[in-house]
Amino acid sequence: MSDDSAGIATILTIDDEQAIRESFHLYLEDYGYRVLEAENGRVGIALLESQNPDLVLVDLRMPEVDGLQVLDYVVSNAPDTPIIVVSGTGVIDDVIQALHLGAWDYMLKPVQDLSVLLHAVKKNLERSRLSRENRAYQQHLEDQVRKRTAELQQANEELREANRQLTRSEEKYRSIFESLTDVYFQVDLNGLVEELSPSIVNNLNYQRERMLGCRLWDYFADPAHCDRMLDRLEQVGMVSDFEALLVSRDGSRRPCAITATREQSQSGEGRIYGVFRDVTERKQAEAKIEHQAYHDSLTNLPNRSLLLDRLELTLNRSRRRGYEGALLLIDLDRFKTINDSLGHGVGDQLLCEVAERLASILREEDTVARIGGDEFVVLLTDVGSDTKSTARKAQGIAEKIRHLLSLPIRIRDHELYITPSIGITLFPIQEEDADTVLKHGDTAMYQAKLSGRNAIRFFLPGMQAEADERLGLEKELRLAIARNQLKLFFQPQINATGAVCGAEGLLRWEHPEHGLIMPDRFIPVAEETGLILPIGDWVLRTACRLIARWSDSELAGSLGHIAVNVSPWQFRQPDFPGQVERILADTGADPGRLGLELTEGVVIDNVADTVEKMASFKLLGVKISVDDFGTGYSSLAYLKRLPLDILKIDRSFVEEVTEDESNAAIVDTIIAIADHLGLEVIAEGVETQGQLEFLQAKGCGQYQGYYFSKPLPVEQFEAYVAERMSNKGVVGVV
Ligand code: C2E
Ligand code: CA
Ligand code: CA
Repeated sequence: MSDDSAGIATILTIDDEQAIRESFHLYLEDYGYRVLEAENGRVGIALLESQNPDLVLVDLRMPEVDGLQVLDYVVSNAPDTPIIVVSGTGVIDDVIQALHLGAWDYMLKPVQDLSVLLHAVKKNLERSRLSRENRAYQQHLEDQVRKRTAELQQANEELREANRQLTRSEEKYRSIFESLTDVYFQVDLNGLVEELSPSIVNNLNYQRERMLGCRLWDYFADPAHCDRMLDRLEQVGMVSDFEALLVSRDGSRRPCAITATREQSQSGEGRIYGVFRDVTERKQAEAKIEHQAYHDSLTNLPNRSLLLDRLELTLNRSRRRGYEGALLLIDLDRFKTINDSLGHGVGDQLLCEVAERLASILREEDTVARIGGDEFVVLLTDVGSDTKSTARKAQGIAEKIRHLLSLPIRIRDHELYITPSIGITLFPIQEEDADTVLKHGDTAMYQAKLSGRNAIRFFLPGMQAEADERLGLEKELRLAIARNQLKLFFQPQINATGAVCGAEGLLRWEHPEHGLIMPDRFIPVAEETGLILPIGDWVLRTACRLIARWSDSELAGSLGHIAVNVSPWQFRQPDFPGQVERILADTGADPGRLGLELTEGVVIDNVADTVEKMASFKLLGVKISVDDFGTGYSSLAYLKRLPLDILKIDRSFVEEVTEDESNAAIVDTIIAIADHLGLEVIAEGVETQGQLEFLQAKGCGQYQGYYFSKPLPVEQFEAYVAERMSNKGVVGVV
């Protein structure tokens, strides 16, 4: 290998003999080396430091710093630099020592053949180069190994870290799985449970282990829910917050929200997994929030928003059905004074008490709302089919409310007396909306306040006038019994032989100023105010007293039974049969001679109660007739179950029986029904000979009507019967 490739090599020769240095210098220069000379070790070391030669030739024996010291320096500071010792033959031991210490080669002085020197220089430079290359290669290898090792270590570390993370995330997953509040589930496509989190016990109270392998779909309360969920999973692969009722272990149905995904491979295998959660509490909270939004928090009554909603609904329905409703706006008089003087605590309790009292008297379909501090609203739906009756009923309820709220209220140590001012408006009047109706109520309430509080006022003057009249009537009616103004008239009933076979008692009110008032005007007021109960009692008593009297007279032979009209209110009293029994006992009347007339409505409504009461009357021997038969909707099946005695054909059918074919057909049918049920039949309102003949021809054997007689006061009635007895068949009947 030529030295050219490494550039010019520099050779340092250290020798105290100038001749030797020069001969080396000259010779080696010829071969293209650069040669440095040093006359002793000290200079040599200085040149070694500054010139960094490629090879050193050093004499062993030199003054000051000798060759071994230079050798020592080179071995420790430039180990790759070849150092050749040049020594006299007398110091051969030194040479051996030098080789031990790291000299690369040696030459003996005097160097006769300088080619030996050249050979040694070349050989050692080559050795140095190889050694350097070798070292570099070694170094390279080592570097490579180190690098690979580092890489492997890094990879290893990463792997370990990944492993650690996996373990961590597995642990995390486990602990999440175990502490989930939601239920994680995994099922196959048939719904068989493959995995389920333990939280199932908190949600539906099942044990996880028991559920594995069960069919999850069987726990849906409604199979339709399950089908819908599975359809959606099949179509779009997932459902989110799907709500369904699941059956819990105690059998209760729990609303659950299900979020699930469906996976299916090409081979058809698949699974459905996801989470579900019992949302009962959420639902309850939602319902509560909804409730709070629409209710007054103090009294728990509907608030203004809910009232307006319901009012709007009611308005629409009233317009559709033609039924009228009423809105009562109630304001408590002097509530502010109580609140200010006794404190809000008392005020609040007072409002709650008022709310309770209001709620206690209303039907389920009505609404009581609190729309402001001491302002309440009562919404009455489907009150009547015409304004008159609606106004009458609304007024009746307002009176009841006024009475109820005027009763003392005890709160803590206070006995409080309050009165309400009540405004009433009816609807629909025109095309008004809910807000307008409420405003009308407010206007009317304001009028009530203006009139001196504790009052009831109607929104429209017309309504007010009627209300005033009714109120007057009611006041007077209360006194009518005590003042002996009620009279019972009797209208005879005639049989096929023309004899008086019975009579119906009909009420009249002999008013000192208005004269004779007919029952159609005051019975409805009596029913709404509850006065019908004492009045009905009076009628029964009066009729029974007369029955007892007539039984002892010569009229007894002719008179069959005496019937009185019984209001539904009377009949619905739990102890009504007991009351009748007592009256019969008190008056000594023969029960077999008493008849009770009930309307179809009473007969049909609450059949169980009716059957029981009628059975009691049957036992007593009291006769029962169905009044106004044909105007209601009696079902034949019900009628069959009732122990009835008589059907009364309503006047409206008899009225045009000779002109109107459909009336004729109805009368015909009623008679057939009575026949079928084995009942007697009486035709009401017979006014003409023609009607009588028609009825006779159809087989109806008893009649009542102006054709024979109007209802008569007792003395005239007695005279009529006596006359008839002595003069059988005078009028009309063949
Ligand atoms: P109602 O039970 O259907 O009584 C028959 C009504 O028809 C009576 O009217 C009677 O006067 C009338 N009337 C009888 N024959 C004829 C006729 O040929 N032509 C015409 N146009 N009318 C005739 P009144 O007495 O005015 O009674 C009306 C209603 O008042 C009764 O109808 C009954 O529902 C009720 N009422 C009468 N008295 C009492 C009572 O003491 N208690 C109860 N709860 N209701 C009563
Ligand atoms: Ca009657
Ligand atoms: Ca009737």
